[in-house]
Amino acid sequence: MSRPYINEELRRLISERADHLCEYCLIHEEDTFLGCQVDHIVSVKHGGSTESDNLAYACAFCNRYKGSDLGSVLLPNRELIRFFDPRHNRWSHHFQLSELMILPLTLVGEVTAKILEFNNDDRCLERQFLITINRYPTAAALRQMER
Ligand SMILES: [Zn+2]
Repeated sequence: MSRPYINEELRRLISERADHLCEYCLIHEEDTFLGCQVDHIVSVKHGGSTESDNLAYACAFCNRYKGSDLGSVLLPNRELIRFFDPRHNRWSHHFQLSELMILPLTLVGEVTAKILEFNNDDRCLERQFLITINRYPTAAALRQMER
């Protein structure tokens, strides 16, 4: 399937609306090596549109791990749980930062943190470095965490 075209104006709108943060892990676009990308919350594969209410700003890691998935199953009951939706959910309702780990507070938070690999070794190392230079959480990220 071809990738939908996201023009510069739409990309700027999505980036500014997100305060230039990944809306999943709250890293700032300037602090992540590959920057941030526009993510389809409901992927094109599943009928999601390329309109601002279905778009989020996501770092390359969150975007890549999420792929075209919409959620995951929690074992042992194989309960299907959707991902965190930055347009309709509050970050602070589903996650909390505990030192360098992003801990889930809900089942939605749990599947999102698991599949997007919020706490894998590389990401924790990156977050640890950013914390030591006072770049994580940024003031904008703190607002999301405290909202
Ligand atoms: Zn991210």
